[in-house]
Formats: sequence, structure tokens, C-alpha cells
Amino acid sequence: MTRVLVVGAGPTGLTAAVELNRRGVEVEIIDKRAEGSGLSRAVGITPQSLCLLYPSGVTDKLLAEGIHFREARIYRRSELGLTLPIRATPPKYGYDFILGLPQDRTEALLRETVEEAGVKVRFSTELTGLKEEESGVLATVADGKSERYDYVLGADGVHSTTRKLLDIPFPGHDLPETWSIADVNAKDWPHPETLTLCQLSRGGVVVAVPLATDRYRVISNRPDALRQLPLEMDVTKIRREGEFTISIRQVPTYNRGLVYLAGDAAHSHSPVGGRGMNVGIADAAEFAKRLAEGSLEGYSAARHREGAKVIAGSERVRKIVTSTSPMTRRLFRLALKAAALLPPVRRKIVDVLLYG
Ligand SMILES: Cc1cc2nc3c(=O)[nH]c(=O)nc-3n(C[C@H](O)[C@H](O)[C@H](O)COP(=O)(O)OP(=O)(O)OC[C@H]3O[C@@H](n4cnc5c(N)ncnc54)[C@H](O)[C@@H]3O)c2cc1C
Repeated sequence: MTRVLVVGAGPTGLTAAVELNRRGVEVEIIDKRAEGSGLSRAVGITPQSLCLLYPSGVTDKLLAEGIHFREARIYRRSELGLTLPIRATPPKYGYDFILGLPQDRTEALLRETVEEAGVKVRFSTELTGLKEEESGVLATVADGKSERYDYVLGADGVHSTTRKLLDIPFPGHDLPETWSIADVNAKDWPHPETLTLCQLSRGGVVVAVPLATDRYRVISNRPDALRQLPLEMDVTKIRREGEFTISIRQVPTYNRGLVYLAGDAAHSHSPVGGRGMNVGIADAAEFAKRLAEGSLEGYSAARHREGAKVIAGSERVRKIVTSTSPMTRRLFRLALKAAALLPPVRRKIVDVLLYG
């Protein structure tokens, strides 16, 4: 039986473990952390991810917990520019909404599924070495133990050890600005199932997204996201506040020999468009499918193409919504007005939101 080591138990690695196991491949999954992450980084789960995770039963669990985002509202400061019902006819992938669920819950449900199937995540196990041999890969972990696998999948995030051990470059650039994030409890917010985006002056943007009942994520490309929100939010508790920077990067190849890369280990971009976790889930599902079907040689080119498309799309939207150019801002306002009047324009925006 083919034996695969998955490095990293984030959403990408867990999806790979679920899908490889479901397809009858022997899989082991390790993570250097002592336990699952409590960070709710990604929120939006796209129709494509729901479709990919359906056969394993994960989607039913996600749907039972998540919030169906059915509407987006776009403001110019506090003035409403557009209300956009999120609906696509016919729905691609069988779903026509974004599902909102904090990433730690998505990971917990993926982990529960793979562990129910008999694959236990080995926490506190850090990959430190890789050596390709005649018929497999020797993987070494921090306590010095080595084991042989037929394939290794590096799903170990943006600072990937696997990528560094393979000496695969990660070209791109870092955005100069620092973004801020706050997860809060708030009561009586009038839009508990709505994605809210407010354009601020001079290229500022702030987004509010529901995480659960009375719980919201506020994120901005300026410091102190909560303070940037031009709409009144009755915050009862700040659960977490922080800052982060953004890199726009992609590896030139998704494998070297029998060792493959997926998720943030292979690509990173801004959270605008909410695609990072979702493209990692799609990488992992395609890796498992190709491995089971014997077509892994096409994996790198196919996922590189898809990753490049996602990065380009996310950058296009980020540059529009954070533009300081008066001309671009005016065109954006005109596009909102056109969308309010013309159903085909609205449909196009919803398609981008749902399907990238
Ligand atoms: C503030 C913020 C908001 C975001 N919002 C969204 C969103 O709305 N939608 C979206 O789709 N994406 C979003 N993202 C991006 C999303 O969080 C990432 O794309 C996603 O977590 C990538 O998953 P991954 O499994 O590839 O990597 P990670 O989640 O980083 O997981 C990698 C795992 O590998 C482990 N690891 C690392 N090195 C080793 C090693 N040597 N040995 C063993 N284990 C190792 C780590 O401990 C970690 O558990 C957001 C990101 C941020 C920062």
C-alpha cells in the first residue's frame, strides 16, 4: 500500500489526510504544535471547498455549525453604496453562498473526521530532515527518528520547513502596510449574516464578518481595525486583537521528486477575497485524487496555474478596494452604481465573490 507523510495539520494538511484516507492510501500526519490551533484566521468557506469536502462527510458538519452569508454590503465610509444578495443561478459546485466558520472550528471538524477514520494527528512532531532514496523518502523528525514513505506532502504553512529542505525558492514581495484584526463579541449588530466592507479615505478599507452568533471579525489595512469601522458596533468583549503583514508569493514548482507542496507552503496572498485556506483545501484534494489515480505528474503545473490565478484575482480586488487613485475610486463608485441598477453586473460581482 502507498504510504504518505503529511507535514502540517492546518486546513490543507488535514484535508489531504481526510482525502488520502478516504481513497485507501495509508497516511500519517504530523504537526510541530502541541495541539490544534485556536486561531480563527480564515472565515469564509467557498462553494468549491464545500463540494470537495462533501464525500468525506465534512461538509455536513461544517454546514451544521456555520453561518450562511447571503448578503454583502459595500459602504463608502458610513454611507451604503450597494446591497448585494449572494445568490447564483445555477449554483456552481452545488452551493450558492459563502459559509462562515472560524478556521479553528473548520480544522477541528476535519481532524475529528480523519481521527474517526483511524488516522491520529501526531502533535509535537516536527519535521527536520528529508532525504530522497531509491524508492521513497526518508523523513526525520525533531527527536531524530527517521521513517521511509513513498511520498511526502509539505502542508506546513508559509514558513514551510519542507519547502526550505527542498531548496525551492518562494519569490514575490511583502506589502509595506501592516493590517489589523479584531475578533469581538457585539450585540444587536444589524447584519448578523452579512459581509460588510467599508471604503475609507485615502485607500483605507475595513471589513466586518460574522463568526458566530453575536461574534464578529473586523479587519483593516490600517492600524486598530475596530477604531477604523465607521459603523456603530456595540462591542461587549474584545476576544483578540492583533496585526499582520502580507506577502504575495508563489513557488515556481510544487514538487521536487517525491516531495510535494500544498497550501500556504506553496502560495501566499492577501486575505482580500478570502481565498487562502480554500485554495489550500483544493491543492490537498487534487493531490489526493491524483495520487490515487496515478496522475501526480500533472499536479505541480495544474496547482501552479490555479494558485497564480487566485493570487492575480485577489491582488486585482485588493488594488481596487485599497486604491488611493481618485480615478480608480471614482470608477469603483460607478461600478457600484451600475451593479445597483444592472442585474448582469451584480451577477458578475457575486460570481467573483463565490467562485474567484
Ligand atoms: C488574519 C488572516 C485572515 C485570513 N482570512 C482568510 C479567509 O477569510 N479565507 C481564507 O481562505 N483564508 C484566509 N486566511 C489565510 C488562511 O488562514 C491560510 O491560507 C491557511 O491557514 C493555510 O492553511 P495551511 O494548512 O496551508 O497552513 P497553516 O494553517 O499555516 O498550517 C500549517 C501547519 O504546519 C505546521 N508546521 C509548520 N512547520 C512544521 C514542521 N516543520 N513540522 C511539522 N509541522 C509543521 C504548523 O504548526 C501548522 O499547524 C487568513 C489569514 C490570516 C492571517
